[in-house]
Amino acid sequence: MHILYEVKDGIATLTLNRPEAANAQNAALLDELDAAWTRAAEDAEVKVIVVRAEGKHFSAGHDLKDRWPGPDEITLEWIYRAENRRYLEYTLRWRNVPKPSIAAVQGRCIAGGLMLCWPCDLIVAADDAQFSDPVVTMGIGGVEYHGHTWELGPRKAKEILFTGRPLTAEEAEKTGMVNRVVPRAELDTATRELAERIAAMPAFGLRQAKRAVNQTLDVQGFYAALQSVFDIHQTGHGNALSVSGYPILAKLDEMKEKLR
Ligand code: ZN
Repeated sequence: MHILYEVKDGIATLTLNRPEAANAQNAALLDELDAAWTRAAEDAEVKVIVVRAEGKHFSAGHDLKDRWPGPDEITLEWIYRAENRRYLEYTLRWRNVPKPSIAAVQGRCIAGGLMLCWPCDLIVAADDAQFSDPVVTMGIGGVEYHGHTWELGPRKAKEILFTGRPLTAEEAEKTGMVNRVVPRAELDTATRELAERIAAMPAFGLRQAKRAVNQTLDVQGFYAALQSVFDIHQTGHGNALSVSGYPILAKLDEMKEKLR
């Protein structure tokens, strides 16, 4: 079980439960997480959804040990189909679940980790949280779900992409990416309090408020931008495949060593 699921007082809590791997995302974890989101979406008892993580870190991103088939089978078509399903379709579905969602983030939240918290409506960060997308080091323009520009504004988005450096919880709050920062020990309590406050509101009002904000972003181009930047991302994989036979570029030997 990579995902724990609990409902209490109208709040569904989805817990990433792979702390031994810093909650790195393999296919099973993402499939279970998608099933948990769907379950919470369909359960009339659930008014608010919380996504949290066991252990020191929220998520180390995609699990490279469980991502691609062997060199003889890997093609850009394979990558495109797999990533479209698990990274783009899943995240957009979570983002549009018609109930408020809150991510509680601690420790490292790296690349694919952003795809687990950005689709949530609100983010509560522990003071030790660090958000980064170092995918440019692999010869690719950023992780599959391009929330960067929307979450951070164009300059900050470019800075973290160009440098790969992590954004601290405090910086993330300043850009509006994070709603509030709390001491690490208070992360679960603070998230719970926020969820309880929201759960006391009428469900239809919440649904329509969320739809109003999401529709406004979509009218501004959010949905179309995510689709087109996903395709830009795939040109990074295509380039890496063409020059090295492997879907990502830098640190290739190191990565391959880890895969053994
Ligand atoms: Zn990718």
